[in-house]
Amino acid sequence: MGKQAKNAISPSRAEDYPMWYQEVVRESQMAENSPVRGCMVIKPWGYALWENMVAAMDEMFKETGVKNAYFPLFIPLSYLEKEAEHVEGFAKECAVVTHHRLESGEDGGLVPAGKLTEPLVVRPTSETIIGESMAKWTTSYRDLPILLNQWANVVRWEMRTRIFLRTSEFLWQEGHTAHATEEEARERTMRMLDVYTEFVETCLAMPVVRGRKTASERFPGAVDTICIEAMMQDRKALQAGTSHFLGQNFAKSSHITFQNADKQEEYAWTTSWGTSTRMIGGMIMTHGDDDGVIMPPRVAPAHVVLLPIIRKEEDRRKIMDYTNGIADLLRGKRYHGRKIVVEIDDRDIGGARNWEWVKKGIPVRAEIGPRDMANDSVFVARRDMGTKEKKGVQREAFINTIEALLDDIQTNLFDRAKRFQKANTHEIDEAGAFYDFYREEGAGGFVMAHWCGSETCEATIKQDLAVTIRCIPFDSRTEQGKCICCNKPSSRRVLYSKAY
Ligand SMILES: [Zn+2]
Repeated sequence: MGKQAKNAISPSRAEDYPMWYQEVVRESQMAENSPVRGCMVIKPWGYALWENMVAAMDEMFKETGVKNAYFPLFIPLSYLEKEAEHVEGFAKECAVVTHHRLESGEDGGLVPAGKLTEPLVVRPTSETIIGESMAKWTTSYRDLPILLNQWANVVRWEMRTRIFLRTSEFLWQEGHTAHATEEEARERTMRMLDVYTEFVETCLAMPVVRGRKTASERFPGAVDTICIEAMMQDRKALQAGTSHFLGQNFAKSSHITFQNADKQEEYAWTTSWGTSTRMIGGMIMTHGDDDGVIMPPRVAPAHVVLLPIIRKEEDRRKIMDYTNGIADLLRGKRYHGRKIVVEIDDRDIGGARNWEWVKKGIPVRAEIGPRDMANDSVFVARRDMGTKEKKGVQREAFINTIEALLDDIQTNLFDRAKRFQKANTHEIDEAGAFYDFYREEGAGGFVMAHWCGSETCEATIKQDLAVTIRCIPFDSRTEQGKCICCNKPSSRRVLYSKAY
C-alpha cells in the first residue's frame, strides 16, 4: 500500500490552511456549496453531527428550565427599527422581502408583484419579534421568568462566505429570557455560558477561554456580552458561543413590562444567547489532520465502521455473519446515553474504502478478514492515531471495552487541543515584540497583553495587525502593567488574537 505514505488531504494544513479546510469539508462529505451564493447544503454526514449537537445542547438547556418555542421567519421592518443600536448592527446584512407575488413579465419571465406595505426582514436574530410576544405574555411578576429557546435558521447577507464558518444562511439556536430583576438576568447570562462551556469542552472536545467582550465587540443592543473563544490549528480564535445581558434595552423598545409585588409597573430584564453551525467549522479546525476530519465520539454521526475483507467469494457468507454479529452486539450498547452507531461497509472498492472513513473522521475502524475471524479477533484503528497504527483485538474484548475506547479518544482529543492552546498562548509586554509576533510569517496565537481600556488603542491594534481583543478573560488576574498600545497603566491582561 504505497498510498499510505501520502496524506489523504491535499494541500496539508501547513501548506495552505484555508484550502485544507475547504478540501476537508468536501472530502468528508459533510457539506457543499449551494447554487445560491453563500448558502450551504449540509449532507447527511454533516447533518447527523448537527443533530447530535442539537440533542446534547437541547437536553442541557431544558435541565436549566428553558423551553422551546418557534417564532416567525419574517420580522416587520418596524420591529428592527425599535432598538437603534440593534438595527445599526444588522442593517448591512439583512435580506428583505418586498413583494408577495410573481406575475408573467413582458419577456415571458416572472417578475415580483404585489408590493408589501411594510417590508419584511428575514430574521437575522429574533430579539425584537420575541420581545413583542413577551410583552403580551407578561403582566405580573408572577409571569416571570420566561425562559425560551428557538432552534431555527437565520440569514445574514455575507459578502465573503466560507462553509460552516460564515454563510448567509445558517442553523442555530437562540435563547431569549425575561426576568423581574437585573441580578436574575445576569445570573442567567452566565449560566448559559456555563452550559456552552460544558457542551463545547465535553462534547466537542474543544478547550475554550471564557470572558467578557469589550464594548466594541458586544452584540448590537447588549449591555454586556460574554463569550467562549477556542483556538484553531492555524492559531486563530473562533468564537464558539455568546451570551448577552440585554439590560432593559429590549424591554423598553418592546414594552415588556410587569407589575411588581408592590403593584408598580417595571420593565423586565432580558438576555439572549446563541450558538450555530459555525461550531462545526470550529470542531473541524480544532481536531482535523492532514487525513481529514476527526469526529469526537460524543457527537460523531457514527462511532464504529466495520470493514469486512472478502478475498474469496466463498468466504463472504461466513465473514458477513461474523461482522453482523459484532455489529448487533455493539448496537446493543450505549455511549453517553446514545446508542452506539455502527456502519458496515462491504463495498468492494479496495483501499479507497478505508480512506473514505478516515476522511470522514469516524472514531473507530475495524477490519475483519478471514485471518481475524479465524483468531476470533478484529483489526482495530482509532482515528486520533496514525493511519498505520492498527492492532488485533480479541472480538469479545473489543465489544466489551468499546465505551472505554471511545472515551479514551474523546479525552485524547481534548487534551491534545488543550496542550496546543497552551503552547500557543503567550504573555507579551512590549509593543515592538507584540507587533513582531503578529507580523512574523506563519506566526500567530493568543497573546495575553495589557490594555488600558481605551477604544482608540483597541482600534489601532485592529487596524495595524487585524488583531482584536477576543475577550477579557474571567480568570485573568489583577496585576500592574502598561497598555501594549499606548503605555498607559493597566491592571489586567486581555486576550488578543486574529480571529474567524
Ligand atoms: Zn492604551
